[in-house]
Amino acid sequence: MSTYRDLLRWGRMELNRAHIPDGDLDAWYLMEYVFEMDRAHYFLRESEEAGSQEEEYRRLISLRCGRIPLQHLTHQAWFMGLEFYVDGRVLVPRQDTEILVEEAVRRLEDGQRLLDMCTGSGCILLSILSQKPCCKGTGVDLSADALEVARLNGRRLNITADFRQSDLFTDIGGRYEMIVSNPPYIPTGVIPTLEEEVRSYDPNLALDGGEDGLSFYRRIVEQASTRLEDGGWLLFEIGHDQGRCVRDMMENAGYGELQVVKDLAGRDRVVLGRRMYR
Ligand code: GLN
Repeated sequence: MSTYRDLLRWGRMELNRAHIPDGDLDAWYLMEYVFEMDRAHYFLRESEEAGSQEEEYRRLISLRCGRIPLQHLTHQAWFMGLEFYVDGRVLVPRQDTEILVEEAVRRLEDGQRLLDMCTGSGCILLSILSQKPCCKGTGVDLSADALEVARLNGRRLNITADFRQSDLFTDIGGRYEMIVSNPPYIPTGVIPTLEEEVRSYDPNLALDGGEDGLSFYRRIVEQASTRLEDGGWLLFEIGHDQGRCVRDMMENAGYGELQVVKDLAGRDRVVLGRRMYR
């Protein structure tokens, strides 16, 4: 039998020994998860014996040492302050993507129609709708598996959205005032160099952006212009070195009011523009 303090110390040591990035944090998150206690609770009880859940904590630490992502162990990912269920069927939501949501919320007006292309876990669409409950949201993905997760997240968060399977716009009708997308954008050849947590646990389908990483942007920019209302917005998350290319692509397709938005680390993260009246 160990105390909470012993266990936390052990967890940190194991993770650091396995060179897990942010091992201290992960030891802490698993503590919170397994024992259902927040930080204040922990400090009140750190010298008590951890009890029957000790083995579960040790088991999860060992799995994390084997590079299974934390979010796959807990099936939780926090995004825009909301809790999303995740598993191997979807890309784990990334904090950087919150910038896309903020830019979208700033421009979307009540009553408008919003489409999230390559919706994955549904994190982008659902978090926009949580702030814009009077908008009508559609989430599209090629993966039926991902759509099951997105629908589950909609139910758990009690947010109504229409999730549909389609290869981009092929099976999708209608027109929209806004289209957002965080499509797969890693060049195929770069995938083997990614960290183990991403390479082995995020679905390949959610990562692979074709030979130059830009294939989805090309197809979406082309197809979206016939689905956007005049004055409608198209917003993308992009890789840090793709801003220029995607911006030019949109300019050549006749989009206006183009902007490249940086993330907190100062890297290009979002490209957006508006379908111009013609
Ligand atoms: N839209 C989802 C997200 O941002 C999935 C993105 C993807 O699979 N490329 O998390």
